[in-house]
Amino acid sequence: MHITIVGAGAMGSLFGAKLSVAARVTLLDPWIEHVRAVQDHGLTIVGLDGSEMNLPLTATSDPDTVSEADLGIIFVKSHATQEASQWVSRFLADDGLALTLQNGVGNADTISHVLGRDRAVAGVTSHGATLLGPGRVRHAGQGPTHLGTRPEVADRLSRVVRILREAGFEVHISENLESLVWSKLLINVGINPLTAILRVPNGELLNIPSARVLMSRAVAEAEAVCRAKGIELTYSDPLARVEDVARATAANRSSMLQDVVRGAPTEIEVINGAVVEEGHRTGVDTPVNSCLVELVRALEDSYQVRVDAPG
Ligand code: NAD
Repeated sequence: MHITIVGAGAMGSLFGAKLSVAARVTLLDPWIEHVRAVQDHGLTIVGLDGSEMNLPLTATSDPDTVSEADLGIIFVKSHATQEASQWVSRFLADDGLALTLQNGVGNADTISHVLGRDRAVAGVTSHGATLLGPGRVRHAGQGPTHLGTRPEVADRLSRVVRILREAGFEVHISENLESLVWSKLLINVGINPLTAILRVPNGELLNIPSARVLMSRAVAEAEAVCRAKGIELTYSDPLARVEDVARATAANRSSMLQDVVRGAPTEIEVINGAVVEEGHRTGVDTPVNSCLVELVRALEDSYQVRVDAPG
């Protein structure tokens, strides 16, 4: 199987490295320094135990040089999903699949729109990764990966599942993609914007009483939206689940915090923004999520004028 990873940043590189033991892998990313580093010196993954592994992988920034792929895994940030899907359309086999494991709501629809519903699949993963620099990525956390299936993709998806398992991933299949996506979303809703606004690692949210209040309100609103939409979550106590994740990943910097620190666009629109949008649609009030969205948008809009030092 030929797998092309589109968006070979933290997560794309991690998945590409792991999958390379079970399939032919190409990394595709417009970030030239990273692609050159992988071409020249291989991709280095710093493992969960701190050990380093270097792998020779094929990497390119030019989608037209990618040979036909059976699977495209989209791991760009949500604002680039449309463009990444167009890249995938250039090399994905007619009976191939494009898989997104991105966070947030709406990526799968964007991909379906470009590539056709028959070639788009989605899921969520509990793996985590952090970019250390060109050609270097840290594996920051591990856990199961859940993929959503449907009758028209089931056979092709089972081949993908086989390869993922061969590569060492714990994979589960579900027929309820919405439940998977929203169950993961609530975790991000409670952790991401607050860590980005406060500039703290995940675990610190539990030590700041007012952050804990905001977290519980944001998560309660998202839970109410799920109830109004008839979405059954994969756990019974959302706030307890969010707090467990913050505890288990206490030292990690959320991806939204990493974005804010490097002055990059965040995924706020598809995370808390999705709660607000679906709240409007279903008649559920979401004032805390609205406020968090506006605060993160204001952060993004003020990267150039931020005052960081005293005086
Ligand atoms: P990242 O910023 O490290 O990587 C994204 C990569 O996409 C970058 O290398 C960028 O150059 C590349 N890119 C931008 N535009 C592109 C395009 N048009 N085509 C191809 N590549 C393009 O991001 P990440 O942390 O790996 O996150 C990727 C996705 O995975 C996000 O949706 C995120 O929410 C989700 N996710 C991240 C983690 C994590 O721990 N980092 C965990 C679970 C899910």
